[in-house]
Amino acid sequence: MPPLAQLDRQFVWHPFTQMRDWLKREPVVIVAGKGAVLHDIRGREYLDANSSIWTNLHGHNHSKINAAIQRQLKKIAHSSALGLANEPASILAAKLVQMTNPKVGRAVPSAPFSHTHVRRGGDTAPYLGKVFFSDNGSTALEVALKLAYEFTRRTRAAEPKFLSLEGAYHGDTVGAVSLGHIDLFHKSYSGLLFKTDRVMSPYCYRCPFNRAKPEHADAREYRKCSWECAGLVEKKFAMQKRKGNSYAAFIFEPLIQGAAGMIPQPPGWLRRVTEIARSHGALLIADEVMTGFGRTGSSDFGLRTLDCGLLFASHHEGVQPDFLCLAKGLTGGYLPMAATLTTQKVFDVFLGEYDEFKTFFHGHSYTANQLGAAAARASLDILQGKQSIRARQNLEKNLRDELQTLWPLPNVGDIRQVGLIAGVELVRDWRTRKPFDLRECAGIRVCEAMARRGVLTRPVGNVIVLMPPYCTNPKQVRKMVRAVFDSVREVFSQRSL
Ligand code: PMP
Repeated sequence: MPPLAQLDRQFVWHPFTQMRDWLKREPVVIVAGKGAVLHDIRGREYLDANSSIWTNLHGHNHSKINAAIQRQLKKIAHSSALGLANEPASILAAKLVQMTNPKVGRAVPSAPFSHTHVRRGGDTAPYLGKVFFSDNGSTALEVALKLAYEFTRRTRAAEPKFLSLEGAYHGDTVGAVSLGHIDLFHKSYSGLLFKTDRVMSPYCYRCPFNRAKPEHADAREYRKCSWECAGLVEKKFAMQKRKGNSYAAFIFEPLIQGAAGMIPQPPGWLRRVTEIARSHGALLIADEVMTGFGRTGSSDFGLRTLDCGLLFASHHEGVQPDFLCLAKGLTGGYLPMAATLTTQKVFDVFLGEYDEFKTFFHGHSYTANQLGAAAARASLDILQGKQSIRARQNLEKNLRDELQTLWPLPNVGDIRQVGLIAGVELVRDWRTRKPFDLRECAGIRVCEAMARRGVLTRPVGNVIVLMPPYCTNPKQVRKMVRAVFDSVREVFSQRSL
């Protein structure tokens, strides 16, 4: 075993990893990367099929981001944001405000239960004019949570209550975990957490209200229901109102929930439920840690074409939140940096004389780090360029076309794609939707088989995730999907196909 692999086994404790399994085999030690390809210490090449856990946007070792970091490095790597401003973070904040507020007069398509209604964006929507920097997705959520809590306490006097979605995952710090509802990850810490409420999220493939028989298609397209999921949201808000303390905030991942199992929302759901939340006076906290920066593509669900300039999932449904949480792709997947955007109205509630102690007492040592901000600025420039827009459109289509080849596999129950994000749900038998028990490690075994074929990704339970960097070319997409096909066949021994 190479010495570096030995060092890892001896000293490193890996996240979300059963270390007993890890220690049984030689780890893949990455030493370099270029574009969508990762190179390991043994000279092997892998496709980075999950963009290094959903972070990388434009590919590894990108000349423009490299150059931006190097330029910044010649000036300074880091100085504190506690008491000091800095050049790249100030410019980045202005850019984020410009990008996250759709221009007044620009058509923001939105359609609760219809596809015709067009709203003028920006005129009535909250204006996200203030940026609070932190380090990662969890801290971006912690910041939103604390701000929403304190804003509500100061403006309403009642103890703020929060509502999030079934299967929600918003990070691993204690506040973010409190907003989460994945028992496997969260239950053991229940003694540490504060209580938040949960409401049904639309998981069309396994929805108890969906009367449709399984088909070889995305369940959102053939579902038969009466939008009971949205009805339950309405009910939940009404119940809480009757208690005399309406929810302070509604927290959601827009268009698709990631760690819940790549669970996409049918068109119109987000618009509808956020309207309900607003009508009950709740603040909206959008967790776009995974979905931000173009990841949800140029069209939503392939059912209608939208403006490819929409870089945030909420905007695909004409929704502008009061808090927008960004991380992962913010620096193009280069450095740990996050941002929580909010409104002047929230900001103002924290203003006062020093001795009123209204200050937002929160911050991190590396808040507004210059290297991260320099990388982010370069990444955002690339993202807005014609080449990137074209690449994203092509990748979305290639992915959609290639994924069709998986339907003949009897263990493929649902294939769901939102833009450049795809989840393939493995089942015992597609006709019955019968799931594998998590203990059978179906998703893990398929991903291990994919790694042997030179394609790296991680499953979410029994869902295989494909979320490639935007530079991934058609041949590489084919290789990724082919690896899923061959690995599913290998693991479940369906050699007759
Ligand atoms: N929110 C969402 C939607 C996420 O997917 C994640 C991470 N997978 C987080 C928050 C937490 O981000 P981080 O791992 O950077 O703390």
